[in-house]
Amino acid sequence: MDMLPPSDVLVRYGGNLPRYTSYPTAAQFDASVGAAEADAWLRAVPAGTPVSLYLHVPFCDVLCLFCGCNSSVVRDADLRAAYARLLIDEVHRVAARLGAGRPVRHVQWGGGTPTTLPPESMRAVMETIHRLFAVEADAEIAIELDPRFLPDDYPPLLGALGFNRASLGVQDLDPAVQAASGRVQSLEQTEDCVRRVRAAGIRSVNVDLIYGLPYQTVDGAGDTALTVAEVLRPERLAVFGYAHVPWKQKRQALLPEAALPPPVERLAQRARIDEALRLSGYSAVGLDHYARPDDALCLAAETGHLRRNFQGYTVDPAPVLVGIGASAISNFPQGMTQNVPANAFYARAMETMPDSLPAVRGVCRTGDDRLRGEVIERLMCDLQVDPAAIGTRHGISASWYESAWPALRQAEMDGLVVLDGPVVRVTEKGRPFLRNIAAVFDAHHAPAGVKRHAGAL
Ligand code: SF4
Repeated sequence: MDMLPPSDVLVRYGGNLPRYTSYPTAAQFDASVGAAEADAWLRAVPAGTPVSLYLHVPFCDVLCLFCGCNSSVVRDADLRAAYARLLIDEVHRVAARLGAGRPVRHVQWGGGTPTTLPPESMRAVMETIHRLFAVEADAEIAIELDPRFLPDDYPPLLGALGFNRASLGVQDLDPAVQAASGRVQSLEQTEDCVRRVRAAGIRSVNVDLIYGLPYQTVDGAGDTALTVAEVLRPERLAVFGYAHVPWKQKRQALLPEAALPPPVERLAQRARIDEALRLSGYSAVGLDHYARPDDALCLAAETGHLRRNFQGYTVDPAPVLVGIGASAISNFPQGMTQNVPANAFYARAMETMPDSLPAVRGVCRTGDDRLRGEVIERLMCDLQVDPAAIGTRHGISASWYESAWPALRQAEMDGLVVLDGPVVRVTEKGRPFLRNIAAVFDAHHAPAGVKRHAGAL
């Protein structure tokens, strides 16, 4: 607890902030950008340039109360199979615009719980991708799993389809926390899931932990991290602060709000998890990821090649990420687009506009967005950045960020950064405040008090 910042620092940096998985962030999306831009930007990707694919499955077996994802419970397997047919249709539309045989470097399935698709549907989507794209031999093919609901036939299927990375949630092992959060999952269930996934040949496992849940304690969070590290031995972990946004995600209103830990307790939980994971041999990567030192994520972080996208930290260097499915976001050099969020409207858009893409909102990047986006991404990935050098590369004066200096100097006085000439270096104490430091360079950031994002700490 001695390492924790004093209360005035917590007050100063406790506002609502984006996670900066993109810049501009999704808060800047509007309906002035949509299907026409998605169409033009796909067609403009230079021949031979690799792309990455993200496929969104908005179904879960049970909804966890803390989750902010776009997902719902759909029991009817025929409806889930019908959704998979829409994914196949959209894959065709994307491939037609990108041109035949486009190289693909990463395929990521997320949600929701992608394994809610019937196995034959999953196979059909993956076979379509392999038929229409040139998936590279060493491509990363990743999927999110729910250890509580992993059908017996799924791990062998994933192995046969070439999946090589699986990500699964643990959150916290304390039964009281699990009960309050609507996610009861024993360690044995998770162990069994990891064993089956590895037996199927999936060589890399990522585990998600969360701090800041109702009734969570510093000791409980630390014990969970230690147990997960020593029993499950995942290659990577992601450690997220619970994002309480009940004004956006209605199910979170069912959580016992009075039992949510305050910011100082959240930071202490985070610090204890950090300590446990480092003791277990993991290295910290960026804001909230951990990996074994020989993992590609660590190597990328050490060499300045780490990237940040909608899935978090990645080694994926592809300049174009195409999101497929309801609510999926695509990223292009020119801007970002997002598909229709609600399943029913996504289905209607796909069926009534067969020649179009289902994108309905987005944002165009300006030159200023590109500059600030690069500064923010390097900060989030490298924990240091030279904004002047990046400005020079973008053809503008090195003094472009003059207005950021007062906030940077304050962060230095608070021990969060060291200012070394133009270079901003985030200290270890400043790592939990990375979003606050990135926000200094965010020209779109809403004024204090506007509730669009979760609390930063
Ligand atoms: S945490 Fe996973 S399983 Fe739970 S509701 Fe969210 S996406 Fe579904």
